[in-house]
Amino acid sequence: MEVVLNPPCDEQHPPQAEDFQEKQEQNSKLSAGVKKDIEKLYEVVPQLLNVFKIKEKIGEGTFSSVYLATAQLKTGYEEKLALKHLIPTSHPLRIAAELQCLTVAGGQDNVMGVKYCFRKNDHVVIVMPYLEHESFLDILNSLSFEEVREYMFNLFKALRRIHHFGIVHRDVKPSNFLYNRRLKEYALVDFGLAQGTPDTKIELLKAAHSEDQEEDSVQHSVQRSVFGERNFNVYSSAYQENSSTKLIKQPKMTDVSSRRLVTKKKIISTKTMSNGAARKAASGCPSNLICDCYATDRVCSVCLSRCQQVAPRAGTPGFRAPEVLTKCPTQTTAIDMWSAGIIFLSLLSGRYPFYKASDDLTALAQIMTVRGSRETIQAAKTFGKSVLCTQVVPAQNLRTLCEKLRGTNSSCKRSQGEAPSKAVSDSASPVAADKPCPETLGKQPQHLTSSQEGDGALEIKAADLKGWDQVPDEAYDLLDKLLDLNPATRITAQEALLHPFFKDMRP
Ligand code: ADP
Ligand code: MG
Ligand code: ZN
Repeated sequence: MEVVLNPPCDEQHPPQAEDFQEKQEQNSKLSAGVKKDIEKLYEVVPQLLNVFKIKEKIGEGTFSSVYLATAQLKTGYEEKLALKHLIPTSHPLRIAAELQCLTVAGGQDNVMGVKYCFRKNDHVVIVMPYLEHESFLDILNSLSFEEVREYMFNLFKALRRIHHFGIVHRDVKPSNFLYNRRLKEYALVDFGLAQGTPDTKIELLKAAHSEDQEEDSVQHSVQRSVFGERNFNVYSSAYQENSSTKLIKQPKMTDVSSRRLVTKKKIISTKTMSNGAARKAASGCPSNLICDCYATDRVCSVCLSRCQQVAPRAGTPGFRAPEVLTKCPTQTTAIDMWSAGIIFLSLLSGRYPFYKASDDLTALAQIMTVRGSRETIQAAKTFGKSVLCTQVVPAQNLRTLCEKLRGTNSSCKRSQGEAPSKAVSDSASPVAADKPCPETLGKQPQHLTSSQEGDGALEIKAADLKGWDQVPDEAYDLLDKLLDLNPATRITAQEALLHPFFKDMRP
């Protein structure tokens, strides 16, 4: 079915007087700031005036503002649309690549599509179908286990689709996976950070790749002078007190892992000859100088002069895979699967955000507290990274961790007659989620089991538990395979859909 907009796009005709009146009425409900933004948007992209009524602002990020708008269809129906206004400083290639992801991969399998695109000068507005959606934090603790299973299944469907096209999303998180609970509709949005795999079917992602890396290295240049090492070591001390992780410099660049990395780099630079950034990185590094700041908390001039490793580092720290956090130059679709695992961890534990780190090393230390420090170090070796951690923290049992954080379920069922399980609380090791961030705490609804009626506490109806008392082992097996520290063995979207956890669902 073809959708025709009425009236047609025409800059010469001013909008009808009644339109203005209606706009005025609706605007009175908006805050002064939003009103101004909407007026500004009509001003910079005047074509919009004749087609859309912009109702409100629904999203505001660093790189875009998103508005809800309506359009009058010829049939008389009002269609709801989402208008994404990209910041005018966005790189044209970046914008084109985002659009191409939506047009080529979007429109099915829970991947957001695109309807129109408007441009005037450097202002671009992407028009998408509007999907009303929930706030993840608002619904997190009211979701049934079955809803969580459906949510994850639909997320993997979307990821399978984009990965099939060679798109690495790189920013998979709840605010980029829209969920309409009532309609059971889902949509993966926001290809603003997407990159292509070496064999991507999105032509513009091939070009956008090198642009990004150059932009990235400029944007993070301050941080990179310290962080941007060929190798780095993590010193995880007293994480439970101040979440601080220190960086220690390598004395020289002659250890096995750094050699492996140099070899890797050569492979990369030959594979992607058009990649200016990679070529830059592969040349002129003072790799054999001996420094004297190893194991100290200062950075010597030798280390400061070392070249910066160029690796994509976009996304949100708490959702970044270990290979992203350690700046592994080759990043694959597996990074999206890690992020999906972090979402799943939130859903199973009822904590969001699960990891709240403002920088990559803190995020890595937080991963260690759940997946184990030895395990993390071992996995990092496989992708040529040397990570040092002075404190050994054991890997945690995922079921025990999630049930403890959720504060419900099988543990309360089992507790009768059984000795209390040696849970994570007994351990001296730090637990990232033991101390949820203040905003999580504040919004945490009443636990399902926290009935205050004295002995009634144990008489919880199965219906109230929403299936959380019977989480099957398959759930934690899938979670374990998503949070595989090694990207080479991490489960793919296609494999996840076929996992026994979804045995009765059609992929
Ligand atoms: P940004 O790059 O600024 O994060 P997004 O594309 O992620 O931009 O959009 C920001 C927010 O706008 C989303 O988190 C979502 O709440 C809302 N949004 C984006 N696209 C749509 C859409 N098609 N329908 C409904 N809401 C949307
Ligand atoms: Mg977003
Ligand atoms: Zn040094």
